[in-house]
Amino acid sequence: MNSARTIYTASWVLPISAPPIRDGAVCVDGARISFVGRALDLLPHNADARHVALGHAVLMPGLVNAHTHLELTAMRGFLEGLDFRGWLRTLTMARREVMDADALLDASRYGLGEALRNGITTCADTTESGIPLVAMREMGVRGIGYLEVFGPDPMQTTTSFAELRERVAITRIHDTVLVRTGVSPHAPYTVSAPLFRAVAEYANAESLPVAVHVAESVAETQFVRDGRGPFADRLRERGIAVGPQARSPIALLHQTGILKTRPLLIHAIHLDDDDRRRVADAGASIVHCPISNAKLGQGMAALHHLRDAGIATGLGTDSVASNDRMDLLGEARQATLLQSLQLGVPDALSAHDALDLATRGGARALGLDARIGTLESGMDADLAAFPLDSIDAMPMYDPAVTLVHVLAGAVKATLVTVAGRELLQIAAV
Ligand SMILES: [Zn+2]
Repeated sequence: MNSARTIYTASWVLPISAPPIRDGAVCVDGARISFVGRALDLLPHNADARHVALGHAVLMPGLVNAHTHLELTAMRGFLEGLDFRGWLRTLTMARREVMDADALLDASRYGLGEALRNGITTCADTTESGIPLVAMREMGVRGIGYLEVFGPDPMQTTTSFAELRERVAITRIHDTVLVRTGVSPHAPYTVSAPLFRAVAEYANAESLPVAVHVAESVAETQFVRDGRGPFADRLRERGIAVGPQARSPIALLHQTGILKTRPLLIHAIHLDDDDRRRVADAGASIVHCPISNAKLGQGMAALHHLRDAGIATGLGTDSVASNDRMDLLGEARQATLLQSLQLGVPDALSAHDALDLATRGGARALGLDARIGTLESGMDADLAAFPLDSIDAMPMYDPAVTLVHVLAGAVKATLVTVAGRELLQIAAV
C-alpha cells in the first residue's frame, strides 16, 4: 500500500482555476496534488490508496487570509466604540504593557486554531513581537510574518532601523519552506519618510517581503497631503515637526522607494486613479479587508477599479480587535454585498469571484500563486473542505453561492491540509 497517497472525495470539488466538479476527487501524493477530477476516474485505479470520503461537502483550495494580527486575538471585544486614534492607542498600550511573551504566544495559537476551523491555511500576519511566526511553525500553518517597525520622528530612524535589522536576523534563521519572515513599516502616520527609505533599501537588498497599512482613513490622507488633522496634532504634541509630505499616501510610498519593493498594501481604501496606476505599475498588491473597514467606519475600497487595473488583490480579516471573527468566507460575503451597494447592481462581485479572491487572489497578492491558491496537479496540497449537509443550506443550486451567501459564518471546515499534512480532519474515513 502506498501510504503517502490519499484520495479525498466530495460531492463538489472547486478547483478555482476550472469549473466546479460534481462528485469530484483530489489525489495527494506526499506534499503535492497529483490529480483533480471526477472520483469515478480515479478510485477504480487506486484501490490501495487511503480514501477520505468527505460526503456532501465542498473541497477547495485552503483559504488565504492576507491580513491578520494573530498576537491580538486576546483583544476581541476589548476596544468597542473607540474612534480610530483612541482604538489604535489603547490597543498599542495594552499590547505593550499587559501582554508578555507567553500571552502573545497563546493569543497567536488561539488565532491559528480559529483560522484552521475556518478553512484558512495561509496567514499573512503583521506583528510587533514576531511571536506569531513561532506559532505558525509549531502548528504547521503556511504564512508570512511581517515584523513591524515604528518611528514617526525622523530622529528615531537610526535606532528603529537598527532594532528592525536585529529582529529580522534573529527571526529569519528559523524560516522554513512554509513560514517566512518579512518586514512592515507600519503606516504613514507612524513611520517617517527617512525610515520608509531605509526599510525600502534594506528589503530590496535582502529580498524581504514587505507589507504596509496604507490609505486606510481620510485622516491619513490629510496627514500626508496637508500635514494637518488628528495624526498631525498627536505628533506635534510629542514635539515632532509635521508638514505636507506627498499628494497622497501611495505617492509617499512611491517617493520613499517602498513601492519598488512590490509591497502588500493593507486596506488601500482611499486611492484615486493616479494612485491605482502607480500601484499597478509597481506590481504591488492589495489586501481588501471589508469587514474591518466597515466596522471602523473607514470606507469601502473600490474593488472593481483594483480588478480593472489588474492589481493582485486578496482578502483579509484584519485582527479580531476590528472584526471580531476570523472567517474568510464571511469576508467574501461582505465583499460581494459592498460591491453591489457601491455599484448599485446585483452580483457586482459574484460568489465565484469572491472565492477566487479568498484563494488564488490572496496567493497572487503574497507571491505564492505558483504553489497554492488553486487545485491543480503539481500544486502544494493546501486543502479545505466545508460540509453542505445542513438543512439550512437546502436547496442548493450553486455550491459557490451556497458557501458564500448561505453558509458563511455558519459552517466550520471538516478538513484542512497544508502541504499534504492534515491539520484538521473530522470527516469519516
Ligand atoms: Zn492591520
